[in-house]
Amino acid sequence: MAQYYGVNELREMFLSFFENKGHLRLPSASLIPRNDKSLLLINSGMAPLKPYFTGQEIPPRTRVTTCQKCIRTGDIENVGKTARHGTFFEMLGNFSFGDYFKVEAISWAWEFLTEVVGLEPDRLYPSIYLDDEDAFKIWHEKIGIAPERIFRFGREDNFWEHGAGPCGPCSEIYYDRGEKYGCGKPTCTVGCDCDRYMEIWNVVFSQFNNDGENHYTELEHKNIDTGMGLERLAVVCQDVDSLFDVDTVKAIRDKVCEIAHVEYETDPKTDVSIRLITDHIRSVTFMAADGILPSNEGRGYVLRRLLRRAARHGRILGIQGRFLADLCLTVIEQSKDGYPELAEKKEYILKLLTTEEDNFNKTIDQGLGILDGMEAEMAKKGSKVLSGAEAFRLYDTYGFPLDLTREILEEKGYGIDEDGFKQAMNVQRETARKAREVTNYMGADVTIYQSIDAAVTSQFVGYDRLVHSSVISVMCTPDALVSELDAGTSGTIIVPETPFYGTMGGQTGDTGLIENDNGTFRVDETIHLQGGKIGHVGEMIDGCLKVGEKVTLKVDEKRRALTCRNHSATHLLQKALRTVLGTHVEQAGSLCDEDHLRFDFTHFSAMTPEEIAKVEAIVNEEIAAGLDVNTRVMSMEDAKKTGAMALFGEKYGDRVRVVNMGDFSIELCGGTHVKNTGSITAFKILSESGVAAGVRRIEALTSDGVFRYYENLEKQFNKAARAAKTEPSLLARRIEAMEEELKGLRSENDSLKNKLANAAMGDVTNQVVDVNGVKLLAVQIPNVDMNELRNLGDELKNKIGEGVIVLASEVSGKVNLIAMATDEAMKKGAHAGNLIRAVAGRVGGGGGGRPNMAQAGGKNPAGIPDALAAVRQALADELHA
Ligand SMILES: [Zn+2]
Ligand SMILES: [Zn+2]
Repeated sequence: MAQYYGVNELREMFLSFFENKGHLRLPSASLIPRNDKSLLLINSGMAPLKPYFTGQEIPPRTRVTTCQKCIRTGDIENVGKTARHGTFFEMLGNFSFGDYFKVEAISWAWEFLTEVVGLEPDRLYPSIYLDDEDAFKIWHEKIGIAPERIFRFGREDNFWEHGAGPCGPCSEIYYDRGEKYGCGKPTCTVGCDCDRYMEIWNVVFSQFNNDGENHYTELEHKNIDTGMGLERLAVVCQDVDSLFDVDTVKAIRDKVCEIAHVEYETDPKTDVSIRLITDHIRSVTFMAADGILPSNEGRGYVLRRLLRRAARHGRILGIQGRFLADLCLTVIEQSKDGYPELAEKKEYILKLLTTEEDNFNKTIDQGLGILDGMEAEMAKKGSKVLSGAEAFRLYDTYGFPLDLTREILEEKGYGIDEDGFKQAMNVQRETARKAREVTNYMGADVTIYQSIDAAVTSQFVGYDRLVHSSVISVMCTPDALVSELDAGTSGTIIVPETPFYGTMGGQTGDTGLIENDNGTFRVDETIHLQGGKIGHVGEMIDGCLKVGEKVTLKVDEKRRALTCRNHSATHLLQKALRTVLGTHVEQAGSLCDEDHLRFDFTHFSAMTPEEIAKVEAIVNEEIAAGLDVNTRVMSMEDAKKTGAMALFGEKYGDRVRVVNMGDFSIELCGGTHVKNTGSITAFKILSESGVAAGVRRIEALTSDGVFRYYENLEKQFNKAARAAKTEPSLLARRIEAMEEELKGLRSENDSLKNKLANAAMGDVTNQVVDVNGVKLLAVQIPNVDMNELRNLGDELKNKIGEGVIVLASEVSGKVNLIAMATDEAMKKGAHAGNLIRAVAGRVGGGGGGRPNMAQAGGKNPAGIPDALAAVRQALADELHA
């Protein structure tokens, strides 16, 4: 029997063991991959270290050890259904970048398992790749394992490869958990599908390079990449059934049972939900802590899906209302030792989960309503099967899992076209796959910069100087490395020491000049390249510069100063937002350049005008207070003690730069800043808006930008006042007076128009004719619009008592035509709408309307007399009928 160790203990044992073997312990990387389009989420210990394996970046040490948080969603449908599957796990790893190789990797793995963890050597079985005799010798001769205990497996199991790039054989270590976990078959041995022989460690010997067409060449620097699932190791040490029983995970499982008032392992159906929630809440909590926000695509969709599945299984367990936020506290409590970011972002995670779960509860109610509608449709059509497309719509848009839809429908004797559902699902998966096309091993676009020697690096020396001398180490055009650049050529220059700030952390990089007596290069953009290089991108505007030449680098001073002011203002803004809105506010992105600043932050509703005004006032107070801005470089540990705000998922080194503005704001930041907040001068928020679920954006101005803004406003204002022929201070009153005057003029105009129309009409009552006992007046009136025509119609109706009125008028080439019939006339059969329909064609138009009133427009004024003449017959026809 193995000795009992907790998950947190084992993690620490592993990391310190390899630290003692000369490894650098690195914190777990963020779940969000950097520069890697082949992955949505980090899924192994080596994934974030890829650039060190390919040699594109130089690792901080050639021996590294990590415990990496990982998420894999490939088997998501099975999570819960079995105790083997999960989406979240931690991977222990030790890595050698061209340092040690097979001998040390195998010996240390053995030493750790048998001497540190104390597993019985008799229970351990190594496996190797078929013809990897080196590995066989080490296991057999050095470690002393009998040949029959060393298993040889083929390519499928023991050769690690991922398209083009580094690859090689691997050696795994299996642990025999004893007969009680076995399948009992006589053939049961290492490699059996059952739970008896558990693979716990995989050591990859990265010794070849695959050119993409399966041509293998021996790597010059061979690497070691190992991976051991922490939870699996704990399963062995704690001698428990599954990862759901190891201490940290069991604590979450117990909490689920407590909230739901159920017991684990009493009902298989209940167990599915318990395990699913236990697993998913871990992924959700870690993803939230890394700054991933729920959305309908990419990582955000994974988060949303996991969260909704967990929430929905909560309902199945009979949990009333929201519970995930409560549950994530247990995750944080269990894992905060290894992942301090969980505790640091606690308030934020809680707020995010609460909001998203509330949204889901609303959606699910809405989804139930939609499903009701679909059922009614089916009943109407006499169908018993819900179409796949509709089931998918419920799933995709309303987060309705298929089994929920199935369950609800089954109760009513309906089914689902499940094949159709799968088809719709596959279409969507295909779209998603296309969206993350693999470009190469690194999952990044290949650029000329990747062919630069990894040993070339640059150092930024521009915090306190804007002019500096250095020597050109690399030059390139967009497609080739070159030794010189001539006038008119675009390219990139790299030097060992530069005062140019490269775009990073939201701050736009510097522009300026690089020059010597031989030539001048204009820097349009400064960027960070892989492997600690800073690229000055621009164009040779004069002469020629060569690699190896000494040059003077001059940063555009004015532009840098303005950018600093905007950047420093974002620090004040962040603190002000946390003061006014709460500590769930986290920076979600920022952009500062010479003209303005943009700050994205997490907050779950729109800010009120009062809140915006308050934030603006606080920032301006701190500007007026003239706070000194100090920067210090210190260890991450010391920085945390100061309470400095860190960014989501930012990869900080051991030494970090802490920027504080008086006692008001303290943040980790590598950007450039003003020396005193006073030089920001003024701060003005232009807008506050939503950019994504849970993310708000503020756009604002400082110093010159604010003055320019008000200057512009003043100009506009003066222009408006001049146009209104008044003083700016009297403009509002002037506009009110003008409105008043306009209103009077309008009504005067209306009554004049009426008088004119009457006058134009003259006395037309003598044109009334009798059609089968109904009076008809059909006349043309010059230049009267439709409104006025209706008024005239009403007046004429009053004049003639009972009967039918038809009026036509030409206004700027168009015809207006109306017809009206009184009650008596209608009783006798007159119908205004039909009359219009009968004659409108003659004026090139169409129309119709009610029996008492109808109108039409036309394009042919010449047809008016004809139309009016035709009215008489049309009316006679109506009365006749
Ligand atoms: Zn078996
Ligand atoms: Zn900053």
